[in-house]
Amino acid sequence: MLPATTMTAEFDLIARIRARAGKRRDVRLGIGDDAALLAPRPDERLVACCDTMNVGVHFPPDTAPADIGWKALAVNLSDLAAMGASPAWALLSLSLPEPDATWLDAFLDGFCELAALHDVALVGGDTTRGPLSICVTALGFVPHAAALKRGSAHPGDIVCVTGTLGDAAAGLQLWRDTEAGVASSDETTTAFLRRRLNRPTPRIAAGLLLRGRARACIDLSDGLLADLGHVASASAVAIDLEAETLPMSDALRDRADDATRLRWQVAGGDDYELAFTVPELECDALLADLATAGCAATRIGRVLGGEGVRLLDARGDPIAPPQGWQHFPGADA
Ligand code: ADP
Ligand code: MG
Repeated sequence: MLPATTMTAEFDLIARIRARAGKRRDVRLGIGDDAALLAPRPDERLVACCDTMNVGVHFPPDTAPADIGWKALAVNLSDLAAMGASPAWALLSLSLPEPDATWLDAFLDGFCELAALHDVALVGGDTTRGPLSICVTALGFVPHAAALKRGSAHPGDIVCVTGTLGDAAAGLQLWRDTEAGVASSDETTTAFLRRRLNRPTPRIAAGLLLRGRARACIDLSDGLLADLGHVASASAVAIDLEAETLPMSDALRDRADDATRLRWQVAGGDDYELAFTVPELECDALLADLATAGCAATRIGRVLGGEGVRLLDARGDPIAPPQGWQHFPGADA
């Protein structure tokens, strides 16, 4: 049994969350009972995912609470996008060092802004005391047999990626530079890169367009090489990437020398773009439709027989890859 003051604080926090939870007709009973009652679509698959963000591991301790709220939901919506799903509901498990209503309101500003953009209702969760940690479960729908899986790449497919790569890693380096007292350059550039780190855009619209057209798909959380490595092994294929073709923002081009930029693009992590494979004959039409929908994608490589992911230079020679982000470096998989 918790002391009465802690209980009061917990209920006050839950009341604040409930007031902003968002509404959908398929939520028959939302926050307030022992569990939510939801009306899934009988003719579609329910798609479920869950991601945790811990202070100091997934975001720097001084990250604005609204950015933490946005990103905690965004990383989950990105997983739904990578399956080709349309999002519907979320659950939020919050561990907070103090029952701080001001922090929570700011956190909810970011969380609810993104939830409203994608018509996601917050239907439940848990609120406890402990080191700052946010665990979001997201649920959505995809028609039967239309889900985009990692294991469906075929030799001959073209590999593509949405958006640009490496911006979030550059944004993280900016934060490190600021901590070390190094002045940062141009305001517009730094604001863009920080936003790419703190407010990733889940590529929901792209995921919906890829349904039934892309073969394999994954969202990029750990870095292009590491994540495409999952596609290669799940599909039992090899992937060759052309370093020269990797998409890059103007801000990234301004910030780094060629070697650093390439390292951030292939191993930086936190990009939350979609990497997918598509049959060669259908690639141009799909890329045109993505561009029309405002989520342009770029060809970056090819699927082959064999195993592993290689990065090739302009002459087609392999470049030694930097390591992707690992939570437990050196540990056996
Ligand atoms: P119980 O003790 O039955 O688990 P709680 O007191 O933890 O219930 O939660 C009460 C209600 O508030 C439940 O509907 C729960 O889903 C919801 N809830 C608690 N914390 C959160 C949160 N962080 N975000 C959304 N809903 C929450
Ligand atoms: Mg509970």
